[in-house]
Amino acid sequence: MTNKSTASHFGDLPLAPATLANLAQLGYVDMTPIQAASLPIALAGQDLIAQAKTGSGKTAAFALALLARLDVGRLVVQAMVLCPTRELADQVTREIRRLARAEENIKVLTLSGGTPMRPQTASLEHGAHIVVGTPGRIIDHLERGSLTLDTLNTLVLDEADRMLDMGFFDDIATVARQCPVQRQTLLFSATYPEGIGKLSQQFLRDPKKVVLEERHDDSKIRQRFYEVTEDQRLHAVGMLLNHFRPVSTLAFCNTKQQCRDLLDVLRAQGFHALALHGELEQRERDQVLIQFANRSCSVLVATDVAARGLDIADLEAVINVDVTPDAEVHVHRIGRTGRADKDGWALSLASMDEMGRVGNIEQAQKREVEWHSLAELTPASTAPLLPPMETLQILGGRKEKIRPGDVLGALTGEAGFRAEQIGKINVTEFSTYVAIERGVARDALHKLGAGKVKGKKVKVRLMDE
Ligand code: ADP
Ligand code: MG
Repeated sequence: MTNKSTASHFGDLPLAPATLANLAQLGYVDMTPIQAASLPIALAGQDLIAQAKTGSGKTAAFALALLARLDVGRLVVQAMVLCPTRELADQVTREIRRLARAEENIKVLTLSGGTPMRPQTASLEHGAHIVVGTPGRIIDHLERGSLTLDTLNTLVLDEADRMLDMGFFDDIATVARQCPVQRQTLLFSATYPEGIGKLSQQFLRDPKKVVLEERHDDSKIRQRFYEVTEDQRLHAVGMLLNHFRPVSTLAFCNTKQQCRDLLDVLRAQGFHALALHGELEQRERDQVLIQFANRSCSVLVATDVAARGLDIADLEAVINVDVTPDAEVHVHRIGRTGRADKDGWALSLASMDEMGRVGNIEQAQKREVEWHSLAELTPASTAPLLPPMETLQILGGRKEKIRPGDVLGALTGEAGFRAEQIGKINVTEFSTYVAIERGVARDALHKLGAGKVKGKKVKVRLMDE
């Protein structure tokens, strides 16, 4: 065992000086607990099963290991990361690229569904060191021969629990069988359902197991429970929002139907709410996540499966519309708020029928929950709760070679807006999304529509209904 006081610095790991300098530049000084526990094992080349909650820094825990093994001089696929969804694959690719900046010319390629095969095949022909993708699309490429894995050193299964939830066991097996037997396999997961043991038995060799206990800083998450009857439940969500007035809230429901019902109720009350569930098309999911992350949507209503793994943290509030039967899931849900140095609210609605579940949560947390009454909830203001930003959608994205700077330039140049009035800019394949201060959004819509982006006229629309 290494000394506790020094083991949490990246500097103690056998990493190249350039990598350490890059980490410092990214503001990564201390390792997160899962990184401290898994990196020594992964860097030593051993197989690993690592379990820690969402947001604990698992990406860097495997990315640094696979980057350390990479032979940049050989432009062949040496590492592959399997992820459950396209968003997660995109997030992982972004994080690997950030961590790889220390070294010139590391090629990381995303191969996930929902986008055409052709450009991916073309990129593969140019060569890649690392591929990140979803199992289905990786199989497509393997079948067509556009991807081969015989030079692979490291296989990573990220969000393994979620991949199993989504029925990817056989696909993972198909891919893993095409990897060389001599390889390192790293499995990362937020929870440890049964299938993980089966996966690791079949595809990992003598893995070391690292499990991190959930521990939340109670001082940052203020938890309250409210007793409701079934006919009060959905209405109570609006009461909580008007009372606490959080800018961004994630509202968890146990079922898709409850998500839909809540969305209807919130919208009827004038809230800006969107729902995330398994039935959305990829493009719709992208749009929902973009609008929530750029603060032009107050409430994201989601099921656990839909929200898991997504990098949406730092929320002012999490509302448990239903109590989950699984106390571990409850702990995950509320861990979305009160991150970093911010405070957060975790508000739960519970009916008499759910008291057994609340008891499980109390046991898991080793303390009693704090009950409050709906009667305490009074609107903090008579003004409706509005998100601070609105989203403009520009029809034109990466395909048209639009970059965020082009849009920022158009808005701050001739259109005359201040940079502070403009929020996140997301460029996707065919569209660009710009967050802009609510008060000036219409003005921006007209000026952008009348002007030019990258020397061309563009179609723009406001995304709010
Ligand atoms: P997980 O995969 O466990 O859900 P991520 O890898 O997505 O978590 O990391 C969550 C966030 O924490 C990311 O924004 C990442 O950039 C940041 N992060 C990761 N490791 C560190 C670190 N050592 N120091 C500071 N920030 C970190
Ligand atoms: Mg992750």
